[in-house]
Order: sequence, then C-alpha cells, then structure tokens
Amino acid sequence: MTDDQKREAVVSNDERYDGLFFYGVTSTKIFCRPSCKSKIPLKKNMVYFENLKQAEQAGYHPCKRCRPDLLEYHPIQEIAEKIKLLLDDHYAQQKVLTMKMAQIGVTYRRMIHIFKEYYGVTPKKYYDNLRLAEARKKLINTDDTIIAIAYSVGFQSLSAFYSFFRRNMNSSPSKYRKENNHGIHS
Ligand SMILES: [Zn+2]
Repeated sequence: MTDDQKREAVVSNDERYDGLFFYGVTSTKIFCRPSCKSKIPLKKNMVYFENLKQAEQAGYHPCKRCRPDLLEYHPIQEIAEKIKLLLDDHYAQQKVLTMKMAQIGVTYRRMIHIFKEYYGVTPKKYYDNLRLAEARKKLINTDDTIIAIAYSVGFQSLSAFYSFFRRNMNSSPSKYRKENNHGIHS
C-alpha cells in the first residue's frame, strides 16, 4: 500500500484495514488503527507503521479510543464471534468458559463492550438466554430430574437454578414443566 492509499483508508475510517497498518500523529505521539473515529490529522503530521511493535519502538502510545494495542491481531468482529462461539460451546461449563475467555486477550470489560456492540446484548444476557432455552427444552421434552437439568445447563445448585428460572419465566421449573408437557408423558 502507498501512503496515499493508507491515508485514504484512514480518512474513510475503513475498518477492513485494521491490523494491516497503523498510523501515528507526530504532534501527539499517539497511534491509531485505520478505523479510529478520532479527528483526522493533517497529512504532514501522519506517519505509518507496519505493526504495533514498530509504533511502540518509535515512542508512540496507543490511542485510548481505538486501542490499537488490543486489536492488532484481533479485529473487532473476530473477537465478538469468538466470544459467541465460546458461549455456545461452553455455557454449561463455567470453568472451561472462564479459562477460554481469558485467552481471547482483551479485558473482560472490553469484551462486554465489543459483544454488546456486535450482538446487541451483553455476553451475560446471551449466556443466560442460552441456559434458559436449553432448560425449558429439557423440562418439556425429557424426563430428566430438575436437578439434573440444572447441572446440565451450568448451575451449581438447585436453588440458584430456581431463582434464575423464576426471575426469567415468572414460574418455577416444576410448575413450568407441568403446564407445558401435558400429552407427552401421559
Ligand atoms: Zn485511535
């Protein structure tokens, strides 16, 4: 890419170039990813870096707004999708989930922000919805005991499951089961 092409990407906040290069502002010694929404610097004040290391070695600091230091290897969409995949696969295994989330490489607060921006709900809400949907399905379609269902969707105790269920469904798991599976088991 030529400097003119890079400048063009910066001027249009083109996130498809995130991770491909960074730009720095000589007057502030701050560097950004191309999609940063900060004010576009004058052309004569712009410098380009191939990677994070190069920017840091030149004495530049990551912009607080676009956090190029966190995003070099993980464009935003990739992070959001990765979190969703982890929640889908491991929502019932809290320990595994916590461990794998930590490996994503961004802070938990940042994860919440990214996820919400991309999917419109917090990871916690998404996670709760998954657990609730699965629990409801099992209550209606299986003969599993309620405690077995509670454990299978990641609760550590029956009481935690009951209060979660009541909060979301305004009913208890046993009542919900009774009301919804007539005909299947009789
Ligand atoms: Zn920035």
